[in-house]
Amino acid sequence: MCGLTYAGVSWDAHRCIREGRAGIERRQRQRLQEIVAYARAHSTYYGRIYRNVPELLSGIGELPVVTKAELMSHFDDWVTDPAVTKARIEVFLADSGNVGRDFLDRYVVCTTSGATGIPAILLHDHTALVVYNVLGYVRSLSVFWHSRGLAWALVRGRGRLAAVFVTGGHFLGNTMMARRIRKIPSRRRMQRIFSALEPLAELVSDLNAFAPVVLGGYPSALETLAHEQRAGRLHIHPVLINAAGETLAPAKRQLIGTAFDCRVGNYYGSSEAVGLTYECTAQRLHINSDWYIVEPVDAGNRPVPAGHLSDGVLITNLANRIQPIIRYHMGDRVTMDADPCICGSPFPSIDVVGRTDDILTFPTPQGHEVQILPLAIATVAEETPGVAGCQLIQRTPLSLTVRLRVKDGGDQEMVWAELRNRLAAFLSAHGATTIAIEKTDEAPAPHPLSGKFRQVYSELTPRHQ
Ligand SMILES: [Zn+2]
Repeated sequence: MCGLTYAGVSWDAHRCIREGRAGIERRQRQRLQEIVAYARAHSTYYGRIYRNVPELLSGIGELPVVTKAELMSHFDDWVTDPAVTKARIEVFLADSGNVGRDFLDRYVVCTTSGATGIPAILLHDHTALVVYNVLGYVRSLSVFWHSRGLAWALVRGRGRLAAVFVTGGHFLGNTMMARRIRKIPSRRRMQRIFSALEPLAELVSDLNAFAPVVLGGYPSALETLAHEQRAGRLHIHPVLINAAGETLAPAKRQLIGTAFDCRVGNYYGSSEAVGLTYECTAQRLHINSDWYIVEPVDAGNRPVPAGHLSDGVLITNLANRIQPIIRYHMGDRVTMDADPCICGSPFPSIDVVGRTDDILTFPTPQGHEVQILPLAIATVAEETPGVAGCQLIQRTPLSLTVRLRVKDGGDQEMVWAELRNRLAAFLSAHGATTIAIEKTDEAPAPHPLSGKFRQVYSELTPRHQ
């Protein structure tokens, strides 16, 4: 599989659609055999857990399930290149000058903070990048290229692309954009990541100056920007908005689409599974199942049939060999659609429950209101040293209650003091200077009624879940 070219992968991706379900299944079976054989031969970790797995698989269910925590704790045994060690990567990651540079000149490295509180270091090899790019451009943008109006608007807008995410460091989006700019520096004028951590007034002013033609971001960030656009403070005219990283509820999609008067697209994927899905003209999320296997599972990792909501999902990435992701458990709750999509795509489609955090609203001493994006404040909390997990709950207009779980061996009081300082500084930077930040002895827990774990929510927001 090494040395796959853009032309080869593009041609195969095109043929795969023409061959329909049988073509997809054939590729899946063959690629699964290949990645399993490769992982068994080159990853000490997989070699160990696959020792009783037959050489010729009769189905993916014969393979054990792996978790992020387990893989991260066996990092050096997990990767398939002995030159890659956690110690060497940590030195590389500590140098911010390396953002957008390939580790050992051959691997893209990114980190995740993760809603579960377990940070991961993820590597992607150049062959996997070819596949991700083809899936991204050929499939994801097909809706775009099929509309002459959109394509022309993109050209007129000189392709200026803005993404509003948690910036900085080695997060996937930041790393990939820095990498593209490093290759062609003039792209800096065309592609920019804006920080969701920035105070809203500054973000609005920066976006007005940049005038993006394509805008990407978390649904909560886009929703806040939609309110700013309607209020007339933000006045940009994107032709396409892409949401990712949180669930895009239909009401939010409509609000964002109406405020900006443009198409709003949705995406589901992760740093472990880049280019996992694409959205079709019927607004369904299709899985790129020629390069990924997605298995909805219950709490005991047993398969959940199409049409039923799962407790989690097992992801297999068939493209990336440096750090094999095979039956990798993710906590997202999904439903595989039982009926075929009207768009005619042979790829299965999926509905994702995902994150449903709230935007928090706090008053300022000047009598205004500020809105705090859930993923931004969650990132501030998760990046505090010693935090293993936490939940931020607004119970009164002027307070924030924190449920905290400290890492094993950590000092409760020290971690809490640092977390409180960081949250206070973050809220103050947004103008909310008089918020009481309180710790409760309750542990982070799913909602008693819905059973859903929501990391950031407001009990002041009227909703019943
Ligand atoms: Zn479809």
